Amino acid sequence: AKSRGLNSYALYSPDMNTTTREKMILESSLRKAIEQNEFRLFYQPQVDIRSGELKGVEALVRWQHPTKGLLTPDHFIPIAEETGMISQIDKWVLRTACLQNKKWQEQGLPSFRVSVNLSSQEFLDESFVDDVHLILEESGLQPKYLDLEITETMTMNVNHAIPMLRKLHALGVQISMDDFGTGYSSLSYLKNFSINRLKIDQSFVRDISKETNGTNIVSIIIAMAHSMNLEVVAEGVEEKEQLRYLQIRKCDEVQGYYFSRPIPGEEFEQSYEELISR
Ligand code: C2E
Ligand code: CA
Ligand code: CA
Ligand code: CA
Repeated sequence: AKSRGLNSYALYSPDMNTTTREKMILESSLRKAIEQNEFRLFYQPQVDIRSGELKGVEALVRWQHPTKGLLTPDHFIPIAEETGMISQIDKWVLRTACLQNKKWQEQGLPSFRVSVNLSSQEFLDESFVDDVHLILEESGLQPKYLDLEITETMTMNVNHAIPMLRKLHALGVQISMDDFGTGYSSLSYLKNFSINRLKIDQSFVRDISKETNGTNIVSIIIAMAHSMNLEVVAEGVEEKEQLRYLQIRKCDEVQGYYFSRPIPGEEFEQSYEELISR
């Protein structure tokens, strides 16, 4: 065992150095990206499963890298989290999303929510509630049109999560539990939290077409969420078959490539009429 340990050390150490070097480069270009405004928001619709009405859009961040092109979050969110830069990025996302939604309302688009993903860092930051309040005031967006997406992991420290969610709720913003079913929380545990909806993780939605156990999990989540007066959004809906299954189980809203991929704001403006008339 000892010699294997040595071998693996010898094998992996050059790799680790590369990774570290790459990380350092990424870290410094990420700092520049923040200063030079290289982030973009893409929006993906969330539609009412019965009426097809547009209920919200999720804002998803992209990095327009000067040489690498458009990067999805998996290329930079982990390092942003590691270095703490995520707070700055998420605050930019929050402000940009609120301003954009207000602008859409002023342009005469129907009113809908904009959902923003949070990281644990904001959620742990006591001044986050004030930040949200300030950004809402600045943008002029009514709080009910902002939805904050949190994950189960963020609520594991219940002594922090319960008062935090209460304060956010008191501001009048909405709260969604993202990636639901992948974390540790049981449904009964959700009763302690001031949240509006659950987003069923796409891994369960993907299983619907394969007719595996995933289908049962989806219907159980929907039924129990409804018994707790929570709305349910299914993520990652790609096929008609999945949509039909979710319709029968009375899921409230759907989001996924079946309706639209995440698209830039300007593209969204142009196609929203088409989207809501489907
Ligand atoms: P998420 O919050 O679970 O977002 C949904 C992801 O699924 C998005 O990936 C979206 O493009 C993708 N998606 C949507 N519909 C479908 C579908 O029908 N099929 C498949 N296969 N995928 C679909 P994206 O944009 O690459 O984002 C990945 C993750 O990065 C997000 O997962 C979220 O956790 C994180 N993220 C995105 N934007 C932000 C942000 O502004 N702040 C923070 N902290 N995290 C963000
Ligand atoms: Ca999300
Ligand atoms: Ca999700
Ligand atoms: Ca996620």
